[in-house]
Amino acid sequence: MKVIARDLAARYFVGEVKYPAFFPTVYGRDRPSTEGVVVNVYRIWTDRESRKIVKKSVGEYLDYGGFVLPESGWRQIDKYGDDDVANEDLVEIQAKMEFPVVAPLPSAKPDDAIINAEVARSITDKPLFLEIPPSWTEKEVFAFVEATKGWAWGYGTRAGRSEFIELLVKTVPRSKRVVVFGIHHPAVIPVIVSLGVDVVTSGAHGRYADKELYITESSIRPLGELKELPCGCKICDGRTPEDLGTKGDLLAEHNLISFVEEVKKTRNAIVEGRLYEYAKRRSLTHPQIYKDFKKVVASEWITENLPFPKQSSIYLFEKECRPEIELGRSLAKKRGVRLEGLAYTYPFGQVYPPIVEARPSPELVVRSVIKYQYGVDVNTSQLRWETRKGIPRKIYMGDKYLGLIRHGDGFFVPSIEGAKWLKEMAPPPAFRIVLDSEGVEAVRLKRSPLTDHVLDVDPDLRPNMEVIVTDEDDEVVATGRSVLTAREVAEIPRTVAVKIRHRAV
Ligand SMILES: [Zn+2]
Repeated sequence: MKVIARDLAARYFVGEVKYPAFFPTVYGRDRPSTEGVVVNVYRIWTDRESRKIVKKSVGEYLDYGGFVLPESGWRQIDKYGDDDVANEDLVEIQAKMEFPVVAPLPSAKPDDAIINAEVARSITDKPLFLEIPPSWTEKEVFAFVEATKGWAWGYGTRAGRSEFIELLVKTVPRSKRVVVFGIHHPAVIPVIVSLGVDVVTSGAHGRYADKELYITESSIRPLGELKELPCGCKICDGRTPEDLGTKGDLLAEHNLISFVEEVKKTRNAIVEGRLYEYAKRRSLTHPQIYKDFKKVVASEWITENLPFPKQSSIYLFEKECRPEIELGRSLAKKRGVRLEGLAYTYPFGQVYPPIVEARPSPELVVRSVIKYQYGVDVNTSQLRWETRKGIPRKIYMGDKYLGLIRHGDGFFVPSIEGAKWLKEMAPPPAFRIVLDSEGVEAVRLKRSPLTDHVLDVDPDLRPNMEVIVTDEDDEVVATGRSVLTAREVAEIPRTVAVKIRHRAV
């Protein structure tokens, strides 16, 4: 898992495809230009003709080169009460058709769902994709994930209550994908993705087109009501509503583009560190989405995963709960730092209009920033600093250069000497990433150490922390910027844990 950027609890990373991703549900031979699609296995099974051509791989069957995620289609099975189809049938079809991941038949009963997963495991070595109904209790979800996580590629559930989606994201190991099926409008994508959902899927583009419905930025409109097409996509450009009315496939393609563009814009907002702003703007489309947005951004789960500090400034338009500011306040409070000393430091120094109006002395800034970041009290009488416009920048102890207070976010970035000085003030694993000998060797060879070589980390580790990398004997190996949370370090194998800044080996 190569994490490119992150914001709130969302991670933009590259795996089979670029995540977070949108996968349309395809029927027959749609061949969308997305990197992945969802295919209903039950439909393939009921399609008698395709059962004869099951010798084909699913890629050949669909004439599609992207990633194919199976959906078991249990809702149809429920609906039509088809006793004909068994878990084994569906799993065998997927195995024969070389699906990259295999979805066993889900069940309303967790114990039956575990049995179905075990049966699938006995038929195929492919990783499993497991669907969880939103009716399960927290305990049931936890027990099911515990029993199946060793075989799972990922877990999926239906779009619905944001509480259940949050429960699922929190319960599933951070190395597995979380998929939410059946969203109705693109505007919900940034809100769901903020929770850390990796894939959203929908077949709505085609269903709406069948009913002559057109997706606009904020709603779904009967095509006949539109005076013009409020969209610049390659389908709508230069066309009129009448042009699309006679061509259902063009309408479906515009609708599909609406979903695809939304996920691209959401990924871009993650890169810019402005997912909060983007999700909020999109959630104002509908009161229910806005309600979900407010619940999502106030959740502890977001605070736990929030990269901190971020490079983006914070604009306040009204009184609102910004997770960045709430986290800054709670860290300052926990470590006994007055906000006055953090007037230049993230997030307080990056909020407009300002929420901390103070001009602290350089001495107070140095003392406050280091305590805020590392929880240690430094004796500033031993230190000296260079200032620029009254703000301390480079910090020294005698001749030793300890590091600098970074312009931009006001965070202290220690040098190797600074790291040696800091670590004496708190026992491991505080603000540390502890590596085994192979991890140390990777640093020496100028490579990024992977999670497999991490022995211990600060339990409060979060992305973007300025950390100290040590060996087993607490000797400083490097300094760097963390990429993952403490939980992710434990749960995600073969992944870069820290971007090295300065090396001591
Ligand atoms: Zn369009």
